[in-house]
Amino acid sequence: MKIYDVTAPIYPGMPVYKNKPEKQPSIETNTNGHVTESRISMDVHTGTHVDAPLHMINDGATIETIAIEKLVRPCKVIDVTGATEKITKSELADAAIEKDDFLLFKTKNSFDEQFNFDFVYMAEDAAAYLTEIGVAGVGIDALGIERAQEGHPTHRLLMDNGVIIMEGLKLKDVRAGSYFMVAAPLKIFGTDASPARILLIENWNS
Ligand SMILES: [Zn+2]
Repeated sequence: MKIYDVTAPIYPGMPVYKNKPEKQPSIETNTNGHVTESRISMDVHTGTHVDAPLHMINDGATIETIAIEKLVRPCKVIDVTGATEKITKSELADAAIEKDDFLLFKTKNSFDEQFNFDFVYMAEDAAAYLTEIGVAGVGIDALGIERAQEGHPTHRLLMDNGVIIMEGLKLKDVRAGSYFMVAAPLKIFGTDASPARILLIENWNS
């Protein structure tokens, strides 16, 4: 059994979406005698995280309503490192994708050290194809599953069909294949996303 931690570290100066300064986390540490306590201020979409429908749908479901059984379960890592701009339906034709799969897409984004404005994203036709098959969730190794598509069709297609979205995965060291996933967003009430520790366990049966 081998455990891959596919979580991005959180620290001031970390890669954040479009390098926007206001998206940087800040950590304030106070020490009083022998007692140290820190306070964090950050966007709920910082680093590796799970999105909730509220992110793109007014009155959509919030992060704590996603059942943990939907996030702690087998998953498949799909290698699409050959995609240069976006993941399209044609990139997925050869992948053995089945109904209820939770798919994590490894793209060339996993090899970026800094935020890449040209990150590989998921095209609308791929999202439509995946919702037709009826996948349970998708994850990508970029801080967004789409870049700036007008009306956010990829997010909306997935969320309208109950497909869970994870962003900010670090998949450089992970090969394509089957894993047991432990994805645990913080149990924050009422928000549109939460940072999560995400672990992939290889050979979990042995
Ligand atoms: Zn997000």
